[in-house]
Amino acid sequence: MNPFWPTVPKRVFHLADAAMTSEDNLDFDTLAVRAGQHRSEFGENSEGLYLTSSFVHESAAMAAERFANRAPGNVYSRFTNPTVDAFGERLAALEGAEACVATSSGMAAVLTCAMALLKAGDHVICSNAVFGSVITLFEKNLGRFGVATTFVSPADVAAWRAAVRPNTRMLFVETPSNPTMELSDIAALKEVAAAAGAWLVVDNCFCTPAIQRPIELGADIVIHSATKFLDGQGRVLGGAVLGKREVMMGEVYAFLRTAGPSMSAFNAWVILKGLETLSIRMREQSRRALALAHWLERHPRVGRVLHPGLASHPQHALARRQQSAGGEFLGGAVVSFEVKGAREEAWRVVDNCRVISVTANVGDTKSTITHPASTTHGRISPEARAAAGIGEGLLRVSVGLESVADIEADLARGLG
Ligand SMILES: *Cc1c(COP(=O)(O)O)cnc(C)c1O
Repeated sequence: MNPFWPTVPKRVFHLADAAMTSEDNLDFDTLAVRAGQHRSEFGENSEGLYLTSSFVHESAAMAAERFANRAPGNVYSRFTNPTVDAFGERLAALEGAEACVATSSGMAAVLTCAMALLKAGDHVICSNAVFGSVITLFEKNLGRFGVATTFVSPADVAAWRAAVRPNTRMLFVETPSNPTMELSDIAALKEVAAAAGAWLVVDNCFCTPAIQRPIELGADIVIHSATKFLDGQGRVLGGAVLGKREVMMGEVYAFLRTAGPSMSAFNAWVILKGLETLSIRMREQSRRALALAHWLERHPRVGRVLHPGLASHPQHALARRQQSAGGEFLGGAVVSFEVKGAREEAWRVVDNCRVISVTANVGDTKSTITHPASTTHGRISPEARAAAGIGEGLLRVSVGLESVADIEADLARGLG
């Protein structure tokens, strides 16, 4: 039995299932290309793109059965769509999850997970180094509906344990953190969550299942912004919530179906094709990122360099343990570093880039650079930025597939 194969029978498909079964024991790379495909009667080799809002029924009786969820089959693309299901099934296979609910963006995935699993009066513990909008969502938006959130340092397990209250229902973490590449020990946080009777939710956006599989390490739920490395070429928005079938097809799917933060079939198709090259992209982009990190460490105008693959990373041993999902330690494609000086010196590096794109997105085959203190983290207070280790000299590069020499030359120009 392949552990990555979803044990789930198809919920909605009435088309013939793929010929492969879980008994085939297929590897990650094979599943990335093959899992989730259900050929139509036309025998297409590439996955079909079902651009349709609704689906027709053989009879009034069958329509009634499907609306009542008593018969398999698609009804409406806010609920299910064959292309979106193919994406979800493939990603579930890669994460080793039983099931996946695909959403319109990464933030829609976080919202869907929270709305499905929390209620007024519940308490959440969240890393203080998660994606900025996640902090706003928990603090401001969910705060208005009576959900209280405590923010703690991602690496300090004792702080997580100390923050537990009787009504704690969820621990939310992103590892490695953005942009300072701090790691959280997923297995240790699982112990805290289990003792509290709370869900452990891990945003696996930066590593992807090619590097880190949180469910194997104890996470209950995995969140993705599929916009980043899963698409991999900066084209479309998407997100996903993954976990146990009962939970995904229960509360999580029920919220999606009612509220409608659903993934579009077109976006699902694009990201599905992105998954086919996930593992070679992550391997190659991680290798380039580490080479760049070593070069930056030797540069006289550069201070701290942050990448889990560096021996100088304070959690390098944890990184090797936790980010070797394929048996091979990769470390990821994001490198942050401090330019000696302040904002002016950091901006000079950005302004002298001719190859690297000046944009805050990550996970593209095109390398990107951003100055977190004035962009992604520009709206939080200078004190909070300092506490999170985001100084005025810090730059974050998401390394793509250009030659490392060209990326180095691009950065060298502004470093002087
Ligand atoms: C981008 C990002 C998100 C939000 O995803 P969107 O697709 O932009 O909504 C969440 N978590 C992390 C780690 C991200 O990088």
